[in-house]
Amino acid sequence: MGNNTLIERDLSVLWHPCTQMKDHETLPIIPIKKGDGVWLEDFDGNRYLDAISSWWVNMFGHCNPRINKALQQQMETLEHVILAGFTHETIVELSERLVKLTPPGLNKTFFSDNGSSAIEVALKMSFHYWVNKGHKGKTTFINIANSYHGETIGALSVGDVALYKEIYEPLLLKTITAPSPDCFNKEEGETDKDYSARMIEPMREILQKHSEECCAVIIEPLVQCAGNMRMYDPIYLTLLREACDEFNVHLICDEVAVGFGRTGTLFASEQADITPDFMVLSKGLTGGYLPLSVVLTTDETYDAFYDDYENLTAFLHSHSYTGNPLGCRAALATLDIFQEDDVIVKNQALIKTLHEVSQEFLNHPHVIDVRQRGMIVAIEMGKNKKTREEYDWKERRGLLVYQYGLKHGVLLRPLGNVIYFLPPYVITEDQIKMMARVALEAINFATKD
Ligand SMILES: *Cc1c(COP(=O)(O)O)cnc(C)c1O
Repeated sequence: MGNNTLIERDLSVLWHPCTQMKDHETLPIIPIKKGDGVWLEDFDGNRYLDAISSWWVNMFGHCNPRINKALQQQMETLEHVILAGFTHETIVELSERLVKLTPPGLNKTFFSDNGSSAIEVALKMSFHYWVNKGHKGKTTFINIANSYHGETIGALSVGDVALYKEIYEPLLLKTITAPSPDCFNKEEGETDKDYSARMIEPMREILQKHSEECCAVIIEPLVQCAGNMRMYDPIYLTLLREACDEFNVHLICDEVAVGFGRTGTLFASEQADITPDFMVLSKGLTGGYLPLSVVLTTDETYDAFYDDYENLTAFLHSHSYTGNPLGCRAALATLDIFQEDDVIVKNQALIKTLHEVSQEFLNHPHVIDVRQRGMIVAIEMGKNKKTREEYDWKERRGLLVYQYGLKHGVLLRPLGNVIYFLPPYVITEDQIKMMARVALEAINFATKD
């Protein structure tokens, strides 16, 4: 079986995610035969370094022997069981460990299948909490400009990336959008911390005016990943937690992308020393193996639903595959690796190497910003370095970077004009250097005229 036969068969039956399928008239789709660590290999023997962890999910490489083994054992014991009225050892242990690892006070877990559906859970739970508490006027949410929380109708409603959202606007819930603490917009000479701190003011004004009608503020801690990897200082989260308490509104931290070490700490919220009312986890949760997500919340939330059945205060939300044992087992194996290999500490060396290679982009005439938060580095291309004038999106220069990368053995998948590194944690220093060299050449190629 060669690449070409598979491409033909694929295009005759498949509709791919987040893709204008007509692009594939000229842009070949890439059939992958196998994965091994940071590498993906196609049917012609070409290898691609997975610099984006296959859409930010992979933690410890493809076909990780330790996760493979754990899954094989799980498969022999229990593949799935209904989670209403029943339970299993894997999910109990996973819940206990997540409660221990996440910020203090998050004592209850509610499982789902993917990031978007877990966002829906958090939104519904927050709304329903206020109803159970007698606050019936709380029917809307506050979000942050340029945020992303997934693609289902509710999750899309609380996001703010026009490319994904605009066309569906007539279908969406109303939200109130606060400006982002994104430090790309800071004034010259201003520190990140000062900028992010002062951006709490417009948020406070919104809360002051609208808290009676708002269930929660939803935010991506520290990095707005799908919003072009824009970053901000932890001070904003600390101040936001205080403001939410002051105005009696929940705080939902969407750590779907930034959780599990991406920002340098196990969870991004740790850097602000806060406990949200709801923490949403997915992507890295299973090490990139299986779809699974979880919402962690407080006893305070849980207790507001706990009553005699006739009072109808229960959270009657479910998905068929909730708490799937195979997904939970992959998650436990992933947590084992974090613990046994002291991953958060060991990643500090990789973070330093990423910092070093990122410096080489600073002086490039068509790079207007280089930023890093832990294991995430973003390099923003632009037309004019001084004025920060952007390239017209229609020029699709990011696509040129993508194509150049593939030709030279690196899977980069720019967001518009932003190239980023978000690699699996098993990447070596030499592989980081190779990835950065190819990215630099790719930027030269994409900006040469
Ligand atoms: C990817 C993502 C989601 C949605 O998760 P899916 O599993 O793709 O539905 C939600 N929030 C953030 C911050 C994400 O990056």
